[in-house]
Amino acid sequence: MRKPLAKDALKQLAESHGVCVRPLALRRTDTATGLTEVVEVPCGATLAVKCKPCAEKGRRLRIQQIREGWHLADEPAVRPDKPDGDALALVRVRAHLEFEREAVQYQPMTPDERAAQVAEIDAAIAELDEALAETSLRGQLTPKERDERPRRKRSTRRRQDSPDLPRLPVDPRTVGRAYSGRTGKTHRPSMLVTLTLDSHGPVHSHLRRGAYVAPCECGTRHGPHDDVLGTPVDPAGYDYRRAALDAIHFARVLDRWWQNVRRAAGWNVQYAGAVELQRRLAPHAHFAIRGTLPRRLLKQIAAATYHQVWWPPFNEPVYRVDKPPVWDVDRQAYVDPKTRKPLPTWGEALDALEEPDSRPAYVARLGRIDARGIDQGTRDAERSIRYVTKYVTKDLTDQAKPRSDPQKAHFDRLHAELSVLPCSPTCANWLLYGVQPDGVKAGLTPGRCTGKVHQRSTLGFTGRRVLVSRQWSGKTLADHRADNRAWVRAILAGGMADTEDHDQAADDADGSKRYRFELARPEDPDVPPLEHRLLRAISARIRWRTDLDTARLRTTAITPATDQPAALAAYAVEK
Ligand SMILES: [Zn+2]
Ligand SMILES: [Zn+2]
Ligand SMILES: [Zn+2]
Repeated sequence: MRKPLAKDALKQLAESHGVCVRPLALRRTDTATGLTEVVEVPCGATLAVKCKPCAEKGRRLRIQQIREGWHLADEPAVRPDKPDGDALALVRVRAHLEFEREAVQYQPMTPDERAAQVAEIDAAIAELDEALAETSLRGQLTPKERDERPRRKRSTRRRQDSPDLPRLPVDPRTVGRAYSGRTGKTHRPSMLVTLTLDSHGPVHSHLRRGAYVAPCECGTRHGPHDDVLGTPVDPAGYDYRRAALDAIHFARVLDRWWQNVRRAAGWNVQYAGAVELQRRLAPHAHFAIRGTLPRRLLKQIAAATYHQVWWPPFNEPVYRVDKPPVWDVDRQAYVDPKTRKPLPTWGEALDALEEPDSRPAYVARLGRIDARGIDQGTRDAERSIRYVTKYVTKDLTDQAKPRSDPQKAHFDRLHAELSVLPCSPTCANWLLYGVQPDGVKAGLTPGRCTGKVHQRSTLGFTGRRVLVSRQWSGKTLADHRADNRAWVRAILAGGMADTEDHDQAADDADGSKRYRFELARPEDPDVPPLEHRLLRAISARIRWRTDLDTARLRTTAITPATDQPAALAAYAVEK
Protein backbone atom coordinates (compact mmCIF):
# COMPACT_ATOMS: atom_id res chain seq x y z
CA MET A 1 0.00 0.00 0.00
CA ARG A 2 2.96 2.34 0.49
CA LYS A 3 4.02 2.23 -3.13
CA PRO A 4 3.27 5.52 -4.85
CA LEU A 5 0.21 5.47 -7.08
CA ALA A 6 0.83 5.38 -10.81
CA LYS A 7 -1.99 7.89 -11.23
CA ASP A 8 -0.26 10.37 -8.91
CA ALA A 9 3.06 9.98 -10.70
CA LEU A 10 1.38 10.85 -13.98
CA LYS A 11 -0.30 13.94 -12.52
CA GLN A 12 2.91 15.10 -10.84
CA LEU A 13 4.90 14.72 -14.03
CA ALA A 14 2.25 16.58 -16.02
CA GLU A 15 2.26 19.39 -13.47
CA SER A 16 6.03 19.70 -13.40
CA HIS A 17 6.10 20.04 -17.20
CA GLY A 18 3.23 22.51 -17.31
CA VAL A 19 0.92 20.08 -19.11
CA CYS A 20 -2.82 20.47 -18.47
CA VAL A 21 -4.03 17.60 -16.28
CA ARG A 22 -7.58 17.53 -17.59
CA PRO A 23 -7.38 18.42 -21.27
CA LEU A 24 -10.57 18.70 -23.28
CA ALA A 25 -10.91 16.55 -26.36
CA LEU A 26 -12.41 18.42 -29.31
CA ARG A 27 -13.61 16.90 -32.52
CA ARG A 28 -12.42 18.92 -35.48
CA THR A 29 -14.28 18.36 -38.71
CA ASP A 30 -12.71 19.51 -41.94
CA THR A 31 -15.71 20.90 -43.81
CA ALA A 32 -13.88 20.58 -47.13
CA THR A 33 -13.02 16.87 -46.87
CA GLY A 34 -15.46 15.69 -44.18
CA LEU A 35 -12.59 14.11 -42.23
CA THR A 36 -12.79 14.35 -38.47
CA GLU A 37 -9.93 14.34 -36.02
CA VAL A 38 -9.68 14.57 -32.25
CA VAL A 39 -7.59 17.53 -31.08
CA GLU A 40 -6.88 18.62 -27.53
CA VAL A 41 -7.09 21.93 -25.76
CA PRO A 42 -6.00 22.74 -22.21
CA CYS A 43 -8.89 23.06 -19.73
CA GLY A 44 -7.99 26.68 -18.95
CA ALA A 45 -8.95 26.45 -15.26
CA THR A 46 -8.11 29.52 -13.17
CA LEU A 47 -8.01 27.73 -9.82
CA ALA A 48 -5.01 25.57 -8.94
CA VAL A 49 -7.18 22.94 -7.24
CA LYS A 50 -8.73 22.20 -10.64
CA CYS A 51 -5.59 22.29 -12.79
CA LYS A 52 -2.32 23.67 -11.52
CA PRO A 53 -0.55 24.15 -14.87
CA CYS A 54 -3.51 26.00 -16.45
CA ALA A 55 -4.05 28.17 -13.36
CA GLU A 56 -0.35 29.05 -13.28
CA LYS A 57 -0.39 29.89 -16.98
CA GLY A 58 -3.37 32.16 -16.36
CA ARG A 59 -1.53 33.89 -13.53
CA ARG A 60 1.50 34.52 -15.75
CA LEU A 61 -0.76 36.10 -18.35
CA ARG A 62 -2.27 38.32 -15.64
CA ILE A 63 1.23 39.40 -14.64
CA GLN A 64 2.01 40.21 -18.24
CA GLN A 65 -1.26 42.11 -18.60
CA ILE A 66 -0.65 44.21 -15.49
CA ARG A 67 2.96 44.90 -16.50
CA GLU A 68 2.02 46.03 -20.01
CA GLY A 69 -0.77 48.32 -18.88
CA TRP A 70 0.68 49.92 -15.79
CA HIS A 71 2.93 52.53 -17.32
CA LEU A 72 1.51 52.87 -20.82
CA ALA A 73 2.71 56.06 -22.44
CA ASP A 74 0.14 56.13 -25.25
CA GLU A 75 -3.59 55.58 -25.12
CA PRO A 76 -4.30 51.90 -25.79
CA ALA A 77 -5.82 51.67 -29.26
CA VAL A 78 -9.01 49.71 -28.84
CA ARG A 79 -10.85 50.25 -32.09
CA PRO A 80 -13.19 47.36 -32.69
CA ASP A 81 -13.95 46.65 -36.35
CA LYS A 82 -17.29 47.80 -37.71
CA PRO A 83 -19.89 45.01 -37.60
CA ASP A 84 -20.43 43.53 -41.06
CA GLY A 85 -23.67 43.54 -43.06
CA ASP A 86 -24.65 39.99 -42.08
CA ALA A 87 -24.44 40.75 -38.39
CA LEU A 88 -26.41 43.96 -38.79
CA ALA A 89 -29.15 42.19 -40.74
CA LEU A 90 -29.50 39.61 -37.98
CA VAL A 91 -29.68 42.29 -35.31
CA ARG A 92 -32.40 44.02 -37.35
CA VAL A 93 -34.54 40.85 -37.41
CA ARG A 94 -33.87 40.40 -33.72
CA ALA A 95 -35.18 43.92 -33.10
CA HIS A 96 -38.45 43.16 -34.90
CA LEU A 97 -38.90 39.98 -32.85
CA GLU A 98 -38.36 41.92 -29.65
CA PHE A 99 -41.01 44.42 -30.74
CA GLU A 100 -43.50 41.66 -31.56
CA ARG A 101 -42.90 39.98 -28.24
CA GLU A 102 -43.83 43.19 -26.43
CA ALA A 103 -46.78 43.87 -28.74
CA VAL A 104 -48.31 40.47 -27.93
CA GLN A 105 -48.80 41.65 -24.36
CA TYR A 106 -51.23 44.36 -25.50
CA GLN A 107 -53.25 42.47 -28.10
CA PRO A 108 -56.61 41.08 -26.98
CA MET A 109 -56.37 37.28 -26.63
CA THR A 110 -56.73 34.57 -24.00
CA PRO A 111 -53.79 33.99 -21.63
CA ASP A 112 -53.19 30.59 -23.24
CA GLU A 113 -53.04 32.06 -26.72
CA ARG A 114 -50.68 34.74 -25.46
CA ALA A 115 -48.40 32.19 -23.81
CA ALA A 116 -48.32 30.15 -27.02
CA GLN A 117 -47.42 33.18 -29.13
CA VAL A 118 -44.70 34.28 -26.72
CA ALA A 119 -43.26 30.77 -26.73
CA GLU A 120 -43.20 30.80 -30.52
CA ILE A 121 -41.42 34.15 -30.63
CA ASP A 122 -38.97 33.01 -27.96
CA ALA A 123 -38.11 29.96 -30.05
CA ALA A 124 -37.39 32.21 -33.02
CA ILE A 125 -35.28 34.47 -30.80
CA ALA A 126 -33.27 31.51 -29.51
CA GLU A 127 -32.57 30.39 -33.07
CA LEU A 128 -31.53 33.88 -34.09
CA ASP A 129 -29.26 34.27 -31.05
CA GLU A 130 -27.49 31.09 -32.11
CA ALA A 131 -26.93 32.52 -35.57
CA LEU A 132 -25.67 35.74 -34.00
CA ALA A 133 -23.18 33.82 -31.88
CA GLU A 134 -21.55 32.56 -35.08
CA THR A 135 -21.00 36.04 -36.46
CA SER A 136 -17.99 38.17 -35.64
CA LEU A 137 -19.79 40.07 -32.86
CA ARG A 138 -18.15 39.96 -29.45
CA GLY A 139 -20.18 39.77 -26.24
CA GLN A 140 -23.90 39.32 -25.69
CA LEU A 141 -26.54 41.40 -27.42
CA THR A 142 -29.03 41.12 -24.55
CA PRO A 143 -28.90 39.91 -20.94
CA LYS A 144 -29.07 36.12 -20.71
CA GLU A 145 -32.15 35.97 -18.48
CA ARG A 146 -35.27 37.92 -19.23
CA ASP A 147 -36.79 39.63 -16.20
CA GLU A 148 -40.56 39.15 -16.67
CA ARG A 149 -41.70 41.20 -13.71
CA PRO A 150 -43.01 44.71 -14.22
CA ARG A 151 -40.38 47.36 -13.63
CA ARG A 152 -40.60 48.96 -10.26
CA LYS A 153 -40.71 52.72 -10.36
CA ARG A 154 -37.88 54.11 -8.32
CA SER A 155 -38.37 57.36 -6.54
CA THR A 156 -35.49 59.76 -6.97
CA ARG A 157 -34.93 59.70 -3.23
CA ARG A 158 -33.69 56.16 -3.54
CA ARG A 159 -30.73 57.14 -5.62
CA GLN A 160 -27.42 57.10 -3.84
CA ASP A 161 -26.72 60.48 -2.32
CA SER A 162 -23.84 61.98 -4.18
CA PRO A 163 -20.76 62.10 -2.00
CA ASP A 164 -19.30 65.43 -1.09
CA LEU A 165 -16.47 65.32 -3.60
CA PRO A 166 -15.11 67.43 -6.39
CA ARG A 167 -17.01 66.54 -9.55
CA LEU A 168 -15.16 67.07 -12.80
CA PRO A 169 -16.25 66.14 -16.29
CA VAL A 170 -14.44 62.88 -17.10
CA ASP A 171 -11.81 63.38 -19.79
CA PRO A 172 -11.33 60.29 -22.02
CA ARG A 173 -7.59 60.30 -21.23
CA THR A 174 -6.41 57.06 -19.59
CA VAL A 175 -2.63 57.54 -19.32
CA GLY A 176 -0.92 59.31 -16.47
CA ARG A 177 1.28 62.39 -16.72
CA ALA A 178 4.95 62.12 -17.56
CA TYR A 179 7.60 64.20 -15.80
CA SER A 180 11.08 65.04 -17.00
CA GLY A 181 13.77 64.34 -14.45
CA ARG A 182 16.86 66.49 -13.96
CA THR A 183 18.96 64.14 -16.03
CA GLY A 184 16.52 64.45 -18.93
CA LYS A 185 15.02 61.05 -18.25
CA THR A 186 11.21 60.84 -18.45
CA HIS A 187 9.41 59.53 -15.39
CA ARG A 188 5.96 58.03 -15.65
CA PRO A 189 4.91 57.42 -12.07
CA SER A 190 1.98 55.18 -11.17
CA MET A 191 0.43 53.97 -7.96
CA LEU A 192 -0.30 50.87 -5.96
CA VAL A 193 -3.33 51.27 -3.69
CA THR A 194 -4.80 48.98 -1.06
CA LEU A 195 -8.46 49.38 -0.12
CA THR A 196 -9.45 47.99 3.25
CA LEU A 197 -12.74 47.71 5.10
CA ASP A 198 -13.28 49.56 8.34
CA SER A 199 -12.48 47.94 11.69
CA HIS A 200 -15.06 45.55 13.13
CA GLY A 201 -13.27 45.53 16.47
CA PRO A 202 -9.59 45.34 17.47
CA VAL A 203 -7.75 42.15 16.44
CA HIS A 204 -4.44 40.74 17.66
CA SER A 205 -1.74 42.07 15.37
CA HIS A 206 1.98 41.74 14.78
CA LEU A 207 3.02 45.40 14.71
CA ARG A 208 6.49 45.83 13.38
CA ARG A 209 8.16 49.21 13.06
CA GLY A 210 11.59 48.57 11.64
CA ALA A 211 13.40 46.32 14.09
CA TYR A 212 11.01 47.22 16.89
CA VAL A 213 7.85 45.15 17.62
CA ALA A 214 5.14 47.32 19.15
CA PRO A 215 2.69 45.93 21.68
CA CYS A 216 -0.72 44.86 20.35
CA GLU A 217 -3.96 46.26 21.74
CA CYS A 218 -3.92 43.40 24.27
CA GLY A 219 -0.52 44.49 25.60
CA THR A 220 1.46 41.54 24.21
CA ARG A 221 4.19 41.81 21.59
CA HIS A 222 3.08 39.13 19.12
CA GLY A 223 5.53 37.31 16.90
CA PRO A 224 4.81 37.08 13.16
CA HIS A 225 3.41 33.54 13.52
CA ASP A 226 1.48 33.90 16.77
CA ASP A 227 -1.61 31.64 17.02
CA VAL A 228 -3.96 34.49 17.89
CA LEU A 229 -3.06 36.82 15.00
CA GLY A 230 -6.12 38.12 13.18
CA THR A 231 -8.56 37.06 15.90
CA PRO A 232 -10.57 39.57 17.95
CA VAL A 233 -9.07 40.89 21.19
CA ASP A 234 -12.61 40.75 22.57
CA PRO A 235 -14.58 38.07 20.63
CA ALA A 236 -17.86 38.97 22.39
CA GLY A 237 -17.53 42.62 21.37
CA TYR A 238 -16.44 41.97 17.76
CA ASP A 239 -19.06 43.13 15.25
CA TYR A 240 -19.53 39.89 13.28
CA ARG A 241 -22.75 41.09 11.69
CA ARG A 242 -21.07 44.12 10.16
CA ALA A 243 -18.01 42.05 9.20
CA ALA A 244 -20.29 39.61 7.34
CA LEU A 245 -22.37 42.31 5.63
CA ASP A 246 -19.28 44.27 4.59
CA ALA A 247 -17.89 41.12 2.97
CA ILE A 248 -21.17 40.45 1.13
CA HIS A 249 -21.35 43.96 -0.29
CA PHE A 250 -17.63 44.69 -0.77
CA ALA A 251 -17.78 44.17 -4.55
CA ARG A 252 -20.44 46.90 -4.87
CA VAL A 253 -18.42 49.24 -2.68
CA LEU A 254 -15.44 48.76 -5.01
CA ASP A 255 -17.65 49.63 -7.99
CA ARG A 256 -18.73 52.86 -6.31
CA TRP A 257 -15.13 53.64 -5.43
CA TRP A 258 -13.97 53.51 -9.08
CA GLN A 259 -16.93 55.63 -10.20
CA ASN A 260 -16.10 58.20 -7.56
CA VAL A 261 -12.39 58.16 -8.40
CA ARG A 262 -13.05 58.89 -12.07
CA ARG A 263 -15.46 61.69 -11.33
CA ALA A 264 -13.21 63.33 -8.77
CA ALA A 265 -10.02 62.90 -10.82
CA GLY A 266 -11.59 64.09 -14.05
CA TRP A 267 -9.95 61.46 -16.26
CA ASN A 268 -10.64 57.85 -17.12
CA VAL A 269 -8.46 56.26 -14.43
CA GLN A 270 -7.45 52.66 -15.29
CA TYR A 271 -6.75 49.90 -12.80
CA ALA A 272 -5.82 46.24 -12.49
CA GLY A 273 -5.91 44.36 -9.24
CA ALA A 274 -7.18 41.53 -7.11
CA VAL A 275 -9.30 40.97 -4.03
CA GLU A 276 -7.69 39.05 -1.16
CA LEU A 277 -8.61 38.09 2.37
CA GLN A 278 -6.88 39.75 5.31
CA ARG A 279 -5.83 37.74 8.32
CA ARG A 280 -8.89 39.06 10.19
CA LEU A 281 -10.93 37.43 7.34
CA ALA A 282 -12.14 40.70 5.81
CA PRO A 283 -11.75 41.12 2.03
CA HIS A 284 -9.43 43.86 0.83
CA ALA A 285 -8.15 44.82 -2.60
CA HIS A 286 -4.80 45.73 -4.14
CA PHE A 287 -4.86 47.77 -7.33
CA ALA A 288 -2.23 48.99 -9.72
CA ILE A 289 -3.41 52.39 -10.98
CA ARG A 290 -2.04 53.96 -14.16
CA GLY A 291 -0.93 57.52 -13.41
CA THR A 292 -0.99 59.25 -10.05
CA LEU A 293 -3.59 61.05 -7.97
CA PRO A 294 -2.99 63.25 -4.94
CA ARG A 295 -3.01 61.11 -1.81
CA ARG A 296 -5.28 63.58 -0.06
CA LEU A 297 -7.88 63.30 -2.78
CA LEU A 298 -7.77 59.48 -2.62
CA LYS A 299 -8.35 59.59 1.14
CA GLN A 300 -11.24 62.00 0.64
CA ILE A 301 -12.81 59.71 -1.98
CA ALA A 302 -12.41 56.65 0.24
CA ALA A 303 -14.13 58.45 3.12
CA ALA A 304 -17.04 59.42 0.87
CA THR A 305 -17.52 56.00 -0.74
CA TYR A 306 -20.41 53.80 0.36
CA HIS A 307 -23.07 51.48 -1.02
CA GLN A 308 -26.66 51.56 0.21
CA VAL A 309 -28.52 48.25 0.37
CA TRP A 310 -32.20 48.95 -0.35
CA TRP A 311 -33.63 45.74 1.01
CA PRO A 312 -36.40 45.28 3.61
CA PRO A 313 -34.96 45.78 7.10
CA PHE A 314 -33.26 42.72 8.60
CA ASN A 315 -31.76 44.04 11.83
CA GLU A 316 -33.50 41.61 14.16
CA PRO A 317 -34.54 38.06 13.33
CA VAL A 318 -38.28 37.48 13.90
CA TYR A 319 -38.08 33.68 13.67
CA ARG A 320 -35.51 31.12 14.70
CA VAL A 321 -33.85 28.67 12.34
CA ASP A 322 -35.46 25.74 14.22
CA LYS A 323 -38.94 27.35 14.22
CA PRO A 324 -39.27 29.02 10.81
CA PRO A 325 -42.46 30.14 9.05
CA VAL A 326 -44.26 27.28 7.31
CA TRP A 327 -45.52 26.87 3.75
CA ASP A 328 -49.30 27.04 3.32
CA VAL A 329 -50.23 25.09 0.19
CA ASP A 330 -53.70 26.66 -0.16
CA ARG A 331 -52.43 30.20 0.04
CA GLN A 332 -49.15 29.45 -1.76
CA ALA A 333 -47.40 31.53 0.87
CA TYR A 334 -45.29 31.23 4.00
CA VAL A 335 -47.30 31.79 7.17
CA ASP A 336 -46.52 32.33 10.84
CA PRO A 337 -46.31 28.86 12.46
CA LYS A 338 -48.66 29.93 15.31
CA THR A 339 -51.11 32.49 13.93
CA ARG A 340 -51.13 31.07 10.35
CA LYS A 341 -51.03 34.67 9.13
CA PRO A 342 -49.15 35.06 5.83
CA LEU A 343 -45.88 36.97 5.90
CA PRO A 344 -45.59 40.10 3.75
CA THR A 345 -44.47 39.27 0.23
CA TRP A 346 -41.24 40.59 -1.26
CA GLY A 347 -43.20 43.11 -3.33
CA GLU A 348 -45.09 44.38 -0.30
CA ALA A 349 -41.88 44.72 1.67
CA LEU A 350 -40.32 46.73 -1.17
CA ASP A 351 -43.42 48.93 -1.39
CA ALA A 352 -42.97 49.77 2.28
CA LEU A 353 -39.51 51.07 1.38
CA GLU A 354 -41.13 53.78 -0.76
CA GLU A 355 -42.38 55.49 2.41
CA PRO A 356 -40.70 58.85 2.89
CA ASP A 357 -39.00 57.96 6.17
CA SER A 358 -37.60 54.58 5.10
CA ARG A 359 -33.86 54.01 5.27
CA PRO A 360 -31.54 51.58 3.55
CA ALA A 361 -31.27 48.24 5.34
CA TYR A 362 -27.49 48.54 5.35
CA VAL A 363 -24.81 50.97 4.29
CA ALA A 364 -21.48 49.39 3.39
CA ARG A 365 -18.51 51.75 3.56
CA LEU A 366 -14.88 51.71 2.65
CA GLY A 367 -12.38 51.92 5.50
CA ARG A 368 -8.73 52.72 5.00
CA ILE A 369 -6.75 53.38 1.87
CA ASP A 370 -3.00 53.09 1.47
CA ALA A 371 -1.37 54.50 -1.63
CA ARG A 372 2.21 54.25 -2.83
CA GLY A 373 3.90 55.79 -5.84
CA ILE A 374 5.63 53.26 -8.13
CA ASP A 375 8.07 54.13 -10.89
CA GLN A 376 8.13 52.38 -14.22
CA GLY A 377 10.44 49.44 -14.77
CA THR A 378 11.76 49.38 -11.22
CA ARG A 379 12.28 46.39 -8.96
CA ASP A 380 9.48 47.85 -6.85
CA ALA A 381 7.08 47.75 -9.81
CA GLU A 382 7.90 44.10 -10.53
CA ARG A 383 7.58 43.15 -6.86
CA SER A 384 4.19 44.90 -6.65
CA ILE A 385 2.86 43.01 -9.68
CA ARG A 386 3.86 39.67 -8.10
CA TYR A 387 2.26 40.83 -4.87
CA VAL A 388 -1.05 41.70 -6.54
CA THR A 389 -1.24 38.40 -8.45
CA LYS A 390 0.22 36.17 -5.72
CA TYR A 391 -2.97 34.34 -4.76
CA VAL A 392 -5.16 34.61 -7.87
CA THR A 393 -4.98 30.86 -8.51
CA LYS A 394 -6.33 30.08 -5.05
CA ASP A 395 -9.78 30.22 -3.52
CA LEU A 396 -10.25 33.41 -1.54
CA THR A 397 -10.14 31.64 1.82
CA ASP A 398 -7.18 29.40 0.93
CA GLN A 399 -4.45 31.75 2.12
CA ALA A 400 -6.36 32.70 5.27
CA LYS A 401 -6.90 29.10 6.40
CA PRO A 402 -7.23 29.02 10.20
CA ARG A 403 -4.26 27.26 11.80
CA SER A 404 -4.98 27.52 15.52
CA ASP A 405 -8.02 27.07 17.75
CA PRO A 406 -8.67 30.81 18.21
CA GLN A 407 -8.40 31.31 14.45
CA LYS A 408 -10.78 28.40 13.81
CA ALA A 409 -13.27 29.83 16.30
CA HIS A 410 -13.08 33.23 14.56
CA PHE A 411 -13.63 31.64 11.14
CA ASP A 412 -16.57 29.54 12.38
CA ARG A 413 -18.22 32.47 14.13
CA LEU A 414 -18.07 34.62 10.98
CA HIS A 415 -19.36 31.74 8.88
CA ALA A 416 -22.24 31.20 11.33
CA GLU A 417 -23.20 34.87 10.94
CA LEU A 418 -23.10 34.57 7.14
CA SER A 419 -25.35 31.52 7.15
CA VAL A 420 -28.33 33.44 8.58
CA LEU A 421 -27.97 36.75 6.71
CA PRO A 422 -29.84 37.29 3.44
CA CYS A 423 -27.53 36.94 0.43
CA SER A 424 -29.95 38.19 -2.24
CA PRO A 425 -33.68 38.95 -2.72
CA THR A 426 -34.39 35.25 -3.35
CA CYS A 427 -32.52 34.00 -0.25
CA ALA A 428 -34.46 31.61 2.03
CA ASN A 429 -33.06 33.49 5.03
CA TRP A 430 -35.59 36.29 4.47
CA LEU A 431 -38.09 34.03 6.25
CA LEU A 432 -36.12 34.57 9.47
CA TYR A 433 -36.77 38.31 9.17
CA GLY A 434 -40.50 37.88 8.55
CA VAL A 435 -40.49 38.52 4.79
CA GLN A 436 -41.24 36.08 1.97
CA PRO A 437 -38.29 36.06 -0.42
CA ASP A 438 -38.62 37.11 -4.05
CA GLY A 439 -39.93 34.30 -6.30
CA VAL A 440 -41.25 32.44 -3.28
CA LYS A 441 -41.85 28.67 -3.53
CA ALA A 442 -42.34 25.65 -1.27
CA GLY A 443 -39.34 23.97 0.33
CA LEU A 444 -37.28 26.97 1.40
CA THR A 445 -35.24 26.30 4.53
CA PRO A 446 -33.66 29.29 6.25
CA GLY A 447 -30.02 28.66 7.16
CA ARG A 448 -29.75 26.26 4.22
CA CYS A 449 -29.58 28.69 1.31
CA THR A 450 -27.13 27.36 -1.28
CA GLY A 451 -26.05 30.84 -2.35
CA LYS A 452 -22.26 31.21 -2.66
CA VAL A 453 -22.26 33.95 -0.02
CA HIS A 454 -22.95 31.39 2.71
CA GLN A 455 -20.12 29.02 1.78
CA ARG A 456 -16.91 28.56 3.71
CA SER A 457 -14.87 28.96 0.54
CA THR A 458 -16.10 32.54 -0.03
CA LEU A 459 -16.79 33.88 3.48
CA GLY A 460 -19.28 36.27 1.94
CA PHE A 461 -17.31 37.75 -0.96
CA THR A 462 -18.67 36.45 -4.27
CA GLY A 463 -17.60 39.20 -6.65
CA ARG A 464 -14.85 38.83 -9.22
CA ARG A 465 -11.41 38.23 -7.73
CA VAL A 466 -9.39 39.82 -10.49
CA LEU A 467 -10.52 43.26 -11.64
CA VAL A 468 -9.01 44.82 -14.73
CA SER A 469 -10.53 47.94 -16.23
CA ARG A 470 -11.44 47.92 -19.91
CA GLN A 471 -8.70 50.15 -21.20
CA TRP A 472 -5.87 48.82 -19.08
CA SER A 473 -3.61 47.27 -21.71
CA GLY A 474 -6.07 47.52 -24.59
CA LYS A 475 -5.92 43.74 -24.77
CA THR A 476 -7.94 40.90 -23.37
CA LEU A 477 -6.27 37.92 -21.73
CA ALA A 478 -6.85 36.02 -24.98
CA ASP A 479 -4.91 38.71 -26.88
CA HIS A 480 -1.96 38.36 -24.50
CA ARG A 481 -2.11 34.60 -24.98
CA ALA A 482 -1.99 35.07 -28.76
CA ASP A 483 0.99 37.44 -28.41
CA ASN A 484 2.98 34.76 -26.65
CA ARG A 485 2.03 32.07 -29.15
CA ALA A 486 3.03 34.20 -32.13
CA TRP A 487 6.41 34.84 -30.59
CA VAL A 488 7.08 31.19 -29.79
CA ARG A 489 6.01 30.17 -33.28
CA ALA A 490 8.28 32.74 -34.84
CA ILE A 491 11.26 31.52 -32.83
CA LEU A 492 10.61 27.90 -33.68
CA ALA A 493 10.32 28.78 -37.34
CA GLY A 494 13.93 29.91 -37.09
CA GLY A 495 13.69 33.66 -37.05
CA MET A 496 11.64 36.70 -36.28
CA ALA A 497 10.73 37.50 -39.87
CA ASP A 498 7.50 39.48 -40.02
CA THR A 499 6.24 37.83 -43.16
CA GLU A 500 6.24 34.37 -41.69
CA ASP A 501 4.26 35.55 -38.71
CA HIS A 502 1.78 37.14 -41.04
CA ASP A 503 1.35 34.03 -43.18
CA GLN A 504 0.70 31.97 -40.11
CA ALA A 505 -2.03 34.37 -39.02
CA ALA A 506 -3.62 34.16 -42.46
CA ASP A 507 -3.64 30.37 -42.22
CA ASP A 508 -5.37 30.58 -38.88
CA ALA A 509 -8.05 32.90 -40.15
CA ASP A 510 -8.66 30.51 -43.01
CA GLY A 511 -8.55 27.46 -40.79
CA SER A 512 -11.20 28.75 -38.46
CA LYS A 513 -13.68 28.77 -41.32
CA ARG A 514 -12.57 25.48 -42.77
CA TYR A 515 -12.89 23.49 -39.57
CA ARG A 516 -15.85 22.96 -37.33
CA PHE A 517 -15.27 22.14 -33.66
CA GLU A 518 -17.41 20.29 -31.15
CA LEU A 519 -16.77 18.58 -27.86
CA ALA A 520 -15.75 14.94 -28.28
CA ARG A 521 -17.28 12.48 -25.84
CA PRO A 522 -14.90 10.37 -23.77
CA GLU A 523 -16.74 7.21 -24.82
CA ASP A 524 -16.19 7.90 -28.54
CA PRO A 525 -14.06 5.09 -29.98
CA ASP A 526 -11.43 7.43 -31.42
CA VAL A 527 -10.85 9.33 -28.16
CA PRO A 528 -7.93 7.66 -26.37
CA PRO A 529 -8.10 7.32 -22.56
CA LEU A 530 -7.06 10.41 -20.62
CA GLU A 531 -3.91 8.66 -19.35
CA HIS A 532 -2.63 7.98 -22.87
CA ARG A 533 -3.37 11.53 -23.90
CA LEU A 534 -1.52 12.90 -20.86
CA LEU A 535 1.56 10.77 -21.51
CA ARG A 536 1.71 11.96 -25.10
CA ALA A 537 1.25 15.57 -24.07
CA ILE A 538 4.10 15.35 -21.55
CA SER A 539 6.45 13.90 -24.14
CA ALA A 540 5.43 16.54 -26.68
CA ARG A 541 6.03 19.29 -24.13
CA ILE A 542 9.51 18.03 -23.23
CA ARG A 543 10.52 17.88 -26.89
CA TRP A 544 8.95 21.28 -27.58
CA ARG A 545 10.90 22.88 -24.73
CA THR A 546 14.18 21.41 -26.02
CA ASP A 547 13.44 22.75 -29.49
CA LEU A 548 12.59 26.14 -28.07
CA ASP A 549 15.78 26.30 -26.02
CA THR A 550 17.90 25.36 -29.01
CA ALA A 551 16.12 27.89 -31.17
CA ARG A 552 16.47 30.56 -28.51
CA LEU A 553 20.24 30.05 -28.35
CA ARG A 554 20.34 30.40 -32.13
CA THR A 555 18.25 33.59 -32.15
CA THR A 556 19.57 35.48 -29.13
CA ALA A 557 22.53 36.47 -31.23
CA ILE A 558 20.29 38.31 -33.68
CA THR A 559 17.29 39.29 -31.53
CA PRO A 560 17.65 41.87 -28.80
CA ALA A 561 16.05 40.58 -25.61
CA THR A 562 13.63 43.51 -25.51
CA ASP A 563 11.71 42.13 -28.49
CA GLN A 564 10.43 39.24 -26.42
CA PRO A 565 7.10 39.55 -24.68
CA ALA A 566 7.99 40.51 -21.13
CA ALA A 567 6.36 37.46 -19.55
CA LEU A 568 8.52 35.11 -21.58
CA ALA A 569 11.63 37.08 -20.79
CA ALA A 570 10.77 36.93 -17.11
CA TYR A 571 10.00 33.24 -17.44
CA ALA A 572 13.39 32.58 -18.93
CA VAL A 573 15.01 34.35 -15.98
CA GLU A 574 12.95 32.37 -13.47
CA LYS A 575 13.86 29.13 -15.12
ZN1 LIG B 1 -5.79 22.42 -17.40
ZN1 LIG C 1 -2.88 40.90 20.94
ZN1 LIG D 1 -28.81 33.02 0.59
